[in-house]
Amino acid sequence: MTIDDAPREALRGGPRELLRWVATGAAVSRADLSRLSGLSPSTVSQRVEALINQGLLEEAGAGQSRGGRRPRQLAVPTGGAVVGAIDLGAHHARIGTLDLSGRVVQGRTLPVRIEDGPETVLGALLAEVTALASGGGAVSSGGADGPSLASGGGAAGALRGVGIGIPGPVQHSTGRIVSPSRMPGWNGFDVAAFCADRVDVPVIVDNDANLMALGAHRTAHAEMDHAVYIKAGTGIGSGVISSGQLHRGAQGSAGDISHCRVVADPAPLCSCGNAGCLEAVASGAALVTALREQGVPVDDLTGVLRLIDDGDRHATALARQAGRAIGEILAVVVNFFNPQVVAIGGRLADCEPLLASMRATLYERCLPLATQTLLIERVATSQDIGITGAAHLVIDHVVAAHP
Ligand SMILES: [Zn+2]
Repeated sequence: MTIDDAPREALRGGPRELLRWVATGAAVSRADLSRLSGLSPSTVSQRVEALINQGLLEEAGAGQSRGGRRPRQLAVPTGGAVVGAIDLGAHHARIGTLDLSGRVVQGRTLPVRIEDGPETVLGALLAEVTALASGGGAVSSGGADGPSLASGGGAAGALRGVGIGIPGPVQHSTGRIVSPSRMPGWNGFDVAAFCADRVDVPVIVDNDANLMALGAHRTAHAEMDHAVYIKAGTGIGSGVISSGQLHRGAQGSAGDISHCRVVADPAPLCSCGNAGCLEAVASGAALVTALREQGVPVDDLTGVLRLIDDGDRHATALARQAGRAIGEILAVVVNFFNPQVVAIGGRLADCEPLLASMRATLYERCLPLATQTLLIERVATSQDIGITGAAHLVIDHVVAAHP
């Protein structure tokens, strides 16, 4: 083992990884876990017992007999405990309950008005999530689209925690929102303290790009240690996975590429007060503004995407410019960080002209060594990717709290 391998090796066979192997079906017994981790059977047994005592693993019947004593099968409990999740967007929130393996039990999309302020919006969403977790169904009748996976609907079980994603910068250590654009009345709001007064389980808060990164990494690229995920929707941001872990940096702002400067002529003004920021050139909100300035009547991002689909030349040219801008910033990130995969999600990820110019710029501006084996792809489009990431935040917290 070289020194470079040390951080990853230290994680090998940790409780979280054991849990993940069982959750994904890679392991069904202590012997499987021992083989995968390289740990001794007694160490594995010790860790498995601890996870069972915490209610994070359970023994499920008997494994296949090989003539001798039947090995006990391990499973992640599906009915006994649940995690609540909220993925807040500019106009909608996806909320849900998930089991301890990160599988969605129930999911619902609710309309929100960010301008109603944090107390109203978060208060209502928290009430919906706790109602779902207690098996009581939704508080409101509107916007429900039924359970995602569960056959019976109700997700009654002990709520272990709630993960919340915010579409703006969050100081992860304190759970406080810091200078968000397009969220009037939310600056400085202490999400963690507000929630602690309303639910008596841990509440973990992060930004929406980190949630998407964690959700996509755990479901699609768990074997890749270094990954960058771009969330391009109304706003634009990214989440970074380094050595298999979400990398937040000193204050939690790692990956926030929204105010990196790109060259654009004329450089449009940004909400931060500077000109020519990535967000002011390449976000969904920027595309809406730019089209309106060209005299094209368009209501929102949905309208922009429709115009691009219809081959509108103004909208398509702007999408290409946005793709180049994202590619330029990403090229710096890729040269500096050397990830194995770069994946783009959010509503702009379905925009072909944007994706094509992003990819071309990335190859043009990166060192061949950095792009030789680099995967550039879309985040598998799922409305549940954010709540999946939110649930994993909570699961990681629960596991870490019981070493
Ligand atoms: Zn800016």
